[in-house]
Amino acid sequence: MNNEPMNNYFRVVIMAVKDGVRTTHHALRITQHAFGALALLLLALLLAACGAPGLSATPEESLPEEVPTEAAPLVFDGEAAYAHVQAQCDLGFRPTGSEAGWATGDYIISCLKEQGWTVETEEFTYRDTPVRNVIGRPSTGSARGVGEGLVVILGAHYDTRRSADEEDPSVPVMGANDGASGVAVLLELARTLDRDELQHRVWLAFFDAEDNGRLDGWEWCVGSSYMAAHLEVTPEAVVVVDMIGDADQQIYLERNSDAPLQTQLWEIAATLGYSDTFISEYRWAMYDDHVPFAQRGIPAVDIIDFDYPYWHTTQDTSDKVSAGSLERVGRVLEVWLEGGDLAAEIRR
Ligand SMILES: [Zn+2]
Repeated sequence: MNNEPMNNYFRVVIMAVKDGVRTTHHALRITQHAFGALALLLLALLLAACGAPGLSATPEESLPEEVPTEAAPLVFDGEAAYAHVQAQCDLGFRPTGSEAGWATGDYIISCLKEQGWTVETEEFTYRDTPVRNVIGRPSTGSARGVGEGLVVILGAHYDTRRSADEEDPSVPVMGANDGASGVAVLLELARTLDRDELQHRVWLAFFDAEDNGRLDGWEWCVGSSYMAAHLEVTPEAVVVVDMIGDADQQIYLERNSDAPLQTQLWEIAATLGYSDTFISEYRWAMYDDHVPFAQRGIPAVDIIDFDYPYWHTTQDTSDKVSAGSLERVGRVLEVWLEGGDLAAEIRR
């Protein structure tokens, strides 16, 4: 990703006026609901495992009245997402065309399949280099979540930059934040999105070849440009997450993003109590994976924390990423996708 075209124009440092943290009934309700259901489930399992004789004697007295018939709804977990950051970094440097880059695609594919997603790939060659986008679609859940309704694409790039040219061009970038963090959020959503609650067909898109822009004449956003040019449906919205794992998280409004959709996402963040990190002020204009979709008239948003001192350096390593930062972004997307009539709200 790159901020060059408008970088100088918008290189105005805006001091963030940070809202106070607001506690949120919504978040508390989710937590209490999940905890309550989980507790009941655990209790039921405990009783079943340890108390069989007693249970068979007086089942109606031993069991709680409201044993849940379904598992408690899963909620996005930052630690689980962080494990995906670590797993990607363990593969090594992951630029497009490298063995580790291909292995990263394989890792994404296996994670998606494990969570019951149908996987397709888009493979093509760019400058003699094999490029592969990975796209997951839910293969189980309600009819509404699978086959009907409008498409919403969540995207992240999984390739890492082959040159740490902000520091030492001869060394690649590890990309714990610039690459792995966005992928990690999408993979944890693949596990936790409640497919019966989804109002749209959600596609998880993992773009290759985003991050070698300007190196030997490469363009930025090669994989997402290819996907945008080959879409067979027009998505209702595209949301890209990139560089969102910084432990020192500050996510500003981005100027090339669709304003109404962006406002909606930041409002959800505020409701969840994240106003300190989802800051409702414009700061950067980015050329990132959302732009090829925006150029086709699709409402597209880039959730990016470009205030990251380790960008395109050798210091973009997993110790700079925090589970809490991943969790905030994941929770916002989870609430957005599970929470109601998105189409109507976008048009609002
Ligand atoms: Zn980058």
